[in-house]
Amino acid sequence: YCGVGCLVDVKTRNNKVIELRGVKDASANKGMLCAKGATLGEILELDGRILTPRIRNKRELAFQETTWENAIAEVAGRLRDILDKYGADAVAMYGSGQLDTEGWYLANKLFKAHFGSNHLDSNSRLCMASAVVAYNTTLGGDGPPTCYDDISHSDCIFIAGSNMADAHPVTFQLIRKFRAKNPDHTLIVVDPRYTNTAKSADIYVPVKPGGDIALFHAIAKIIIAREAADTEFVERYTNNFDDYVAMLADYRLEYLAEEAGVELALIEQVADAFIKSENLLSFYCVGLGQSSVGTAKNQALIDLHLLLGQICREGAGPFSLTGQPNAMG
Ligand code: SF4
Repeated sequence: YCGVGCLVDVKTRNNKVIELRGVKDASANKGMLCAKGATLGEILELDGRILTPRIRNKRELAFQETTWENAIAEVAGRLRDILDKYGADAVAMYGSGQLDTEGWYLANKLFKAHFGSNHLDSNSRLCMASAVVAYNTTLGGDGPPTCYDDISHSDCIFIAGSNMADAHPVTFQLIRKFRAKNPDHTLIVVDPRYTNTAKSADIYVPVKPGGDIALFHAIAKIIIAREAADTEFVERYTNNFDDYVAMLADYRLEYLAEEAGVELALIEQVADAFIKSENLLSFYCVGLGQSSVGTAKNQALIDLHLLLGQICREGAGPFSLTGQPNAMG
């Protein structure tokens, strides 16, 4: 359901769940759980759960229960037959970011090292490919340079392409709690829809669908025009800054505002908040990534962090939210 990765403590008695709580000192959830996590115990006891392996020799036959030993031997035997008959290219594995890192490591070892097959993929490619390529091409590594603890060090949070309040509810609760204690904190939400996340914003930016890159470039132009870029950071840690400035120069601010579908005065307000911020943290999700220009959207946002030197310290940086806890694992 979600990629927050909440940790839970489960107490059982006589094989029944008697108590389930969020782990208090877990950085992802600090003791909290959303309705889905809080009802995990009930799910474990639902009638109709499949508790043993089942097998059928033909698709039209009904499943028969079997033991784990039999099921594993059957899978191994069938894979062996296919490998012997058709070779390693005839087997493939499709997984997901719900597998933990250790599980994926073993799957890779089995398919690549043992079978000699390169055919492993997962739905994380659909979910996160744009984010990964954007991180690699802008920062040179594919992981977010941020963590949940950054929330409590930020003074401005920028959310784009994500309805966190519904899709990553516990992370959004962390933000809400922090903001309740820090009334000067600024929350900017970019979304064509007036979502539950947008309702909590100090600045809501109703971008046109597909207008994100124009919006991010407009913000960059204003920052540069106001001479508010972190030139020391840019000179020391970035490449090709002149190309970036030249690319932005090709577009008039009014044109970018129109493409973004946002009033120029509102974009200026966002740029001002960015310039004023000591620690700017951005959260973004598939609203940016799942697009034919998803990588460019992610890159344009990360570029804003580089332009302002808002990265590589507590409370600042780009933070891509995932749909699955181990999507980047
Ligand atoms: S926020 Fe996500 S990870 Fe946490 S309990 Fe809810 S569904 Fe589970």
